[in-house]
Amino acid sequence: MSTLKKIVILGGGTAGWMAANLMAKKWKNKPIAIYLIESPCIGIVGVGEGSTPTLKAFFNQMNIAESEWMPACNATYKLNIRFNGWSPSSPLNSYSHPFKSQVDVHSERSFFVNCLTRRMGLNVTTDPELFFLNGVLAQKKLKPEAAINFPFNTEYGYHFDSALLGTFLKEKAVALGVTHYQGKVTSVEQHIDGSIKHLVTDANNVFEGDFFIDCSGFEAVLMRQKLKVKFTSFSDNLFNDSAVVIPTNTPYDNSIETISTALSAGWAWEIPLANRQGNGYVYSSQFIDSDKAERELRDHLGIIDKDVNAKHLKMNIGQLESHWSKNCLALGLSQGFIEPLEATALHLVQTSIDSFITLFEQGDFTNKYQTTYNKIVNERFESVRDYIVAHYKLNSRHDSDYWKENRENLILSDALLHILDCWYKGKELTQEVVMSQTGSQFSLSSWHCLLAGNNVFPSLAVKQPGVGDLYREYQLEKFYANCSLNFASII
Ligand SMILES: Cc1cc2nc3c(=O)[nH]c(=O)nc-3n(C[C@H](O)[C@H](O)[C@H](O)COP(=O)(O)OP(=O)(O)OC[C@H]3O[C@@H](n4cnc5c(N)ncnc54)[C@H](O)[C@@H]3O)c2cc1C
Repeated sequence: MSTLKKIVILGGGTAGWMAANLMAKKWKNKPIAIYLIESPCIGIVGVGEGSTPTLKAFFNQMNIAESEWMPACNATYKLNIRFNGWSPSSPLNSYSHPFKSQVDVHSERSFFVNCLTRRMGLNVTTDPELFFLNGVLAQKKLKPEAAINFPFNTEYGYHFDSALLGTFLKEKAVALGVTHYQGKVTSVEQHIDGSIKHLVTDANNVFEGDFFIDCSGFEAVLMRQKLKVKFTSFSDNLFNDSAVVIPTNTPYDNSIETISTALSAGWAWEIPLANRQGNGYVYSSQFIDSDKAERELRDHLGIIDKDVNAKHLKMNIGQLESHWSKNCLALGLSQGFIEPLEATALHLVQTSIDSFITLFEQGDFTNKYQTTYNKIVNERFESVRDYIVAHYKLNSRHDSDYWKENRENLILSDALLHILDCWYKGKELTQEVVMSQTGSQFSLSSWHCLLAGNNVFPSLAVKQPGVGDLYREYQLEKFYANCSLNFASII
């Protein structure tokens, strides 16, 4: 039985405050004190404005209503991600990856069958957004809150101001009893067995703890700098290592999708918030320098005003070999980062905390399940990596070496090769195949959206029998038009 009495979290970005909230709530009846130390001088990364539906589960777990947190964080709904210009060879100018809702069980089989039919060369409907409620709601700019008589749950994520979300979560954590301290940690002392004993701040305050959580961002002060945990880089097949960010005062236009537009050496995001728009360009510094990237983003956004400032960031893409080492757990950017194309970072933070809480409790607050935890989280990161890598591998752009090299990149995991092999050979892509990645974070639907969206299909056969389009046969257009009558407009 452990003698865990005190947990010290280093870092007050979204990861630190999420961990503080979930642990304080979960262990509120246990004699465990939680401290969080952060340095306002260092600050937070201050980007990260899109989520997956997992964030909805976080607020449900915390019993915090949308009506409370969304206005406080200038949040809007996010129903999907729209990819513009990733595959010019596709008849679709852009395609959408909608979050799957409960009602979509009625149509996803038709989508899968149509994709299979199309892979045989027959001309059937395969535009992903037509097969998902969220795709249709996003087109019509309808709120994902259904009328009371609509008997299905809807899934969606959010867009939010990350600095405001941090402040909101800080107040909630402090109200739950977390002790907040501001100061810079300048040294870390270890026990003889290498575990962490205490942290010392620039004001010479000493923070002893039984367990430490490293949420110190890319610096990974505890895990990488002190415990020397190795970092596995994903740069072999994820080339992007930099970002330039330029928020604009663009008024909210009721949009409920994240836009991702392919540029010459990466992609640009546009995220609609209630009071402004978040914009950025994620790129590879091997293919474009920071000045040119900034210029390209300004051109893309039509920003001539030099007074609109840009922020430049470097990104470490990869993950720690062990996310939990000795008496320390890494969460957030300190544990690893996969570029934000599918906005998965907070999803990984949240699922990491949930798994940790479960396994730490099962092991009586000891390191009993450390190996199990590390395996689970490593596989989750690999699964997200593979899904992101596939976006680049499947592009059909010819405008720069960046896109060509991505397409020609042969460094792919066995799990990803297995999925692509199955698709190209015209076999049915099943959940089983997708689950060949044990930690799969993306569903069969998501893989179909990605492959069909990029038009990974052979040429159409010369002879078309003219039947077999389940989208038409099952009148799915009419079905979703009727469904959408249950949803109100975004105001
Ligand atoms: C370009 C870009 C786009 C992104 N987009 C998304 C997205 O759309 N969706 C998504 O989910 N995620 C996204 N992310 C990731 C997201 O920003 C992070 O996962 C999230 O903000 C959590 O960051 P963090 O808390 O780990 O680190 P940070 O925000 O960097 O916080 C680190 C904390 O540690 C403290 N600290 C560090 N060193 C010390 C020290 N020595 N002493 C005291 N305190 C210290 C700092 O003061 C700070 O409080 C994006 C990231 C980047 C780079």
